[in-house]
Amino acid sequence: MDFVRDVCLVQMPEYNPECPFCPGNENKLSSVACEIPDKDGKAWSARAVYNKFPALIPEGDIFRHQDGIYLQGNGFGSHLVIVESPRHNIQMCGMARKELLVVIESYHKCYSMLADDPRYMLIMLFKNHGRSAGASLFHPHSQLVASSVVPKFIRNREREEQRYFDEMGRCVMCDVLEFEARDQKRMLFDNQSFAVFIPYAAEVPFELWVVPRRHMADFKDINEVEKKDMAESLEWVMKVFQDKLHCPDYNFTINSCTRYKSEEPQLHWFLRILPRLTTRAGFEIGSGMCINPSLPEDDAEFLRS
Ligand SMILES: [Zn+2]
Ligand SMILES: [Zn+2]
Repeated sequence: MDFVRDVCLVQMPEYNPECPFCPGNENKLSSVACEIPDKDGKAWSARAVYNKFPALIPEGDIFRHQDGIYLQGNGFGSHLVIVESPRHNIQMCGMARKELLVVIESYHKCYSMLADDPRYMLIMLFKNHGRSAGASLFHPHSQLVASSVVPKFIRNREREEQRYFDEMGRCVMCDVLEFEARDQKRMLFDNQSFAVFIPYAAEVPFELWVVPRRHMADFKDINEVEKKDMAESLEWVMKVFQDKLHCPDYNFTINSCTRYKSEEPQLHWFLRILPRLTTRAGFEIGSGMCINPSLPEDDAEFLRS
C-alpha cells in the first residue's frame, strides 16, 4: 500500500502495476460505467467504474418490509468509483484547471446517467481524500452512491429549506450568498458563477462551501460556463489547502436535490468540504452538536492572508 500522509508532496511513478485504476490493469476492475475521452478520443481522461466492494447493489426490489417492529429492505442502489485521471501519481491539489474540469465533467456525466433511473431517489457524489477521511487507495478518485432511500438527514435539510421559503418567500442559500457577499468576513473567493466561503456556523475548522450563484436545485443543471468556473473555484481551494493547511485529509460532498425536486425554488445545491483536522469525539457523537475550536472569521482571514 502506497498511501502516505502528505500524499501530494510525494514523488511516485505515474503507473502502478498493482493499482486497479491505472490504465492497463482493467483485469483488476469489475466493469466500466462511463468514460470521458481524452482530446484525441483514443484513451480516457476520466472514467467511472463499478465499485468492486459496493455499499449498495442494483439487485432485488426497492421496497421496505416489516420485520416485527422494524423495517428492513435490500441494500438497493449503485456504487461507482470515479477515476479522476489515468495518472496514478496526481492528486486534486496538483491538478491543472483543465484536469479539474475533466473531473467535474465526469461527475456530471455519472450523475446524469444515474438520474435517468427512477429507482434512485438520492444521488450522492463525494470524495474521501487521505486515510483519515476514509480513502484506502492512492490513485485519485471520487465516488458516487445512488440510493432508493432518502435518509432523515437529507429530508431534514430539504424540510428546513422549505420552511425558510414558506416564511420568507426566498431560497435560503440565495440569501446566504447575498449576506456573505455583503458581510465579506467569511468570503474567500468568487467568480462569475461560484462563491467560496466558510459557513457562519462551520462544523469543523476550515469547512468550506462552494456555492453556485445561479439558483439551481439540481447539480444536473450545471452549464458549461459554470463547470469551468467550478473548476477555477476548486483550483483555488486546492491551492489554499496545499499552501496554508499543508494538504489535509478531507471529505467533500455535492449536496444536490433529491428526485422530483429539480425545479423547486427553495433548494440550492452546493459543494461542502470538510478538512479532517479535528476528531469527532464523545460529545459530538452523544449530542449531535459539534465543537469547532476556531472561529470561521479567523479561519477565513488566515486562508486569505
Ligand atoms: Zn493507479
Ligand atoms: Zn437559491
